[in-house]
Amino acid sequence: MFSRLDNSTLSELKGIVGSAGWSDDSEVIAPHISEWRGLFSGSTPIMLMPDTTGEVAAILRCCNERGIGIVPQGGNTGLAGGAIPHSKPDAPEILLSASRLNRIRELDAENFTLTAEAGCVLATLQQAAAAADRLFPLSLAAEGSCQIGGNISTNAGGTNVMRYGNVRESVLGLEVVLPNGRIVDGLRGLRKDNTGYDLKQLFIGAEGTLGFITAAVCKLFPLPRSSATALLAVDEPRAAVDLFTRAQLSLGDELIAFEIFPRLALDMVLAHIDGCRDPFDKAWDWYLLIEIAGVRDQADTDQNLTGFLDASLAAGVVRDGVIAQSGTQRADLWRLRHSISEAQRHAGASIKNDISVPVARVAQFIDEAASYAAQRVTGVRPVAFGHLGDGNIHFNLSQPEAMPSQEFLDLWDEITAAIHTIAVQLGGSFSAEHGIGALKTGELVRLRSEVELDLMRAIKQAVDPRGIMNPGKVLER
Ligand SMILES: Cc1cc2nc3c(=O)[nH]c(=O)nc-3n(C[C@H](O)[C@H](O)[C@H](O)COP(=O)(O)OP(=O)(O)OC[C@H]3O[C@@H](n4cnc5c(N)ncnc54)[C@H](O)[C@@H]3O)c2cc1C
Repeated sequence: MFSRLDNSTLSELKGIVGSAGWSDDSEVIAPHISEWRGLFSGSTPIMLMPDTTGEVAAILRCCNERGIGIVPQGGNTGLAGGAIPHSKPDAPEILLSASRLNRIRELDAENFTLTAEAGCVLATLQQAAAAADRLFPLSLAAEGSCQIGGNISTNAGGTNVMRYGNVRESVLGLEVVLPNGRIVDGLRGLRKDNTGYDLKQLFIGAEGTLGFITAAVCKLFPLPRSSATALLAVDEPRAAVDLFTRAQLSLGDELIAFEIFPRLALDMVLAHIDGCRDPFDKAWDWYLLIEIAGVRDQADTDQNLTGFLDASLAAGVVRDGVIAQSGTQRADLWRLRHSISEAQRHAGASIKNDISVPVARVAQFIDEAASYAAQRVTGVRPVAFGHLGDGNIHFNLSQPEAMPSQEFLDLWDEITAAIHTIAVQLGGSFSAEHGIGALKTGELVRLRSEVELDLMRAIKQAVDPRGIMNPGKVLER
């Protein structure tokens, strides 16, 4: 039961963060109460931007005592509506931004660890690690805006999961403020620590429903000495899966990215994103962006990828391929892949699915889902792209060109439910890396077992008995 947020509470909260730490200016708040794709929007009476963990603790304590909902926000690039407050005049929710918690507290090159506050932008951490001759491997298209606190709260994946894992595998320690204001200081940079329940795992991927992450110790890795990137053309997803098996056997641990996208995605990028060009003379049906990296010298790495490409062409699995000859060409190839979401926005409304299946079933999933979609909506344009190496496909459907956008979007629940069911029947997941947020709470109930749901609800009740943390996200109220 939520209380009204009265003026004296607002004054108390403003006092905790000081004049630089809050805003109730509707223009300042506007970009923070709607989501990147415009699927979710809400309202908040105030956005708080604490500067220290102590301030976060005081805010949560104050809100917990009064039963006021808190919505944590990082870079607001999430794709499940988790960072957007509801519009509830009778139970307004406070937006708690991590933006001023943006210090790198320590980079320990010898321990291969980085301790950063939640509001550090991902690209800043990558750069800091590189400056110390280390690699912070998390990489995704939103890396210029998303924050490490948001990445951890969504257990982000991205393009290097195959080699380095999801964020979960990179987090060694967390500092978290609980709903009652108590601080869990777990900033330990240990590779081994079997001392009871691994509490940090509770907060990784919890999408702000159990506490507010204020800082993390993350693993660093040796900075690769060389890398090589290629764009390959194949006829169909089945060939892509075959090629992935070959790549793993032939390139081993050096393989760090194996991304797939169809011709339609490339067409959208070429049509809507300035400065992109087709690296091939001819149009192919499917493309694979693959990257290898390692500690050997550049000539060896180039030779390794060239040898793999030659063998795959000779075997008839690959139809054509280009290898980047410079850093600029590598960036150009990655830009094609990273621009797909943006380009698809310009091609009308789209219904998005972020699913995963065992890698061996990716082709079957794409075939079944595309055939379902084509039968359900004549002229629908499937853009199935993503991290093939992780079995993670963003099966996004662009509206038929002549169909009114809203008419298409009205089919969202029906179509996503059918696609999720196909994925789950193939042994997959209906949310691979984007989480549940506000978008998939119903699907969580539909597709997770009772015992798993009961455990999740019991954890929520134990950690956040008043239900102030991100109300209604992940678990329906
Ligand atoms: C173009 C584009 C490409 C993307 N590609 C990928 C991809 O390849 N892989 C992938 O995994 N994701 C991807 N995403 C989704 C998104 O970038 C990630 O989910 C990212 O990790 C979110 O970080 P953020 O800082 O923007 O979090 P936000 O969107 O601000 O928040 C996400 C969730 O975390 C909670 N939260 C945020 N900060 C905190 C905190 N400090 N403490 C507690 N809870 C918190 C919020 O309440 C919300 O529930 C992409 C998004 C875009 C726009």
